[in-house]
Amino acid sequence: MNIVTTTTELRRQLAPMRGHERIAFVPTMGCLHEGHLSLIRKAKKMADIVVVSIYVNPLQFGPNEDFNAYPRSFEQDCELCEKEGVEVIFHPENLYPADGIKVSLKVDELDSLLCGTSRPGHFDGVVTVVNLLFNIVRPDIAVFGEKDYQQLTIINRMASDLHMNVEIISAPTLREPDGLAMSSRNRYLSEDERNRASHLHETLQSMKVLFEQGEVDAGRLISLGRAKLSDAGIKPEYLEIRDAQNLKPVEQLGDSPARIFIAAKIGNTRLIDNIALERAIHRSSASIAETML
Ligand code: AMP
Repeated sequence: MNIVTTTTELRRQLAPMRGHERIAFVPTMGCLHEGHLSLIRKAKKMADIVVVSIYVNPLQFGPNEDFNAYPRSFEQDCELCEKEGVEVIFHPENLYPADGIKVSLKVDELDSLLCGTSRPGHFDGVVTVVNLLFNIVRPDIAVFGEKDYQQLTIINRMASDLHMNVEIISAPTLREPDGLAMSSRNRYLSEDERNRASHLHETLQSMKVLFEQGEVDAGRLISLGRAKLSDAGIKPEYLEIRDAQNLKPVEQLGDSPARIFIAAKIGNTRLIDNIALERAIHRSSASIAETML
């Protein structure tokens, strides 16, 4: 495994492979956990060369956010990547010009909802760094987690709106045994907060069960979810049901796939999660008989 810290060196190393080998890219901010590793494993299966970037991108943090405190564990990350058979780690010190970036990308509409509301400029920072990294790595495929579903949706739109020559692959959320979505930020939680945090997924899961039992009114599902969170002492920043494709609000759950999205502060730690609402494939024998006629 090669650890590369400059753009020039990365380009030099990848140049002989282009055209012969399929290059997969997994962008991360490091402090790797099983969730990240699942993306790497997916990338390994789909490509010949896997490049993992480890870069805490200052552009996507707001002035009062945790850029300086964001957990960093580079040596351990390298060991994990080595075990997974990663070919190249790209670990630049800084990706931006000394006098600041003067030309960048901007997200419309998709950044004025869910996390975009409380994190102005966050998604502009994300698309700018991902575009920059795509230009350096020039991967055939890039893998992103559904854990950050709004980010995944925006990256998909970026790749298609800007005709980028890269296939975006999504990977499901990996969870702790009690359902909490794995996140580098989980290590901020005290024992009590960690216990409380499990109610985020528990709430999403019980809303999903109600949907599968036939509840199609999004408003009612959200009220039930809010009540459950309140019992656990959690006041969410948002709890919303949106279309899985375009993130537009959904009132009546029907045939098109929707997702429940949640963000909440547990103590000082802001956590996010989401879950798919898909029609269960149980059909009554009567309706099966009907279709067979
Ligand atoms: P981050 O290091 O937080 O920027 O995340 C890097 C990538 O890992 C993103 O595509 C995330 O969506 C993905 N990721 C983070 N947590 C998980 C998880 N629990 N399961 C699957 N993917 C994840």
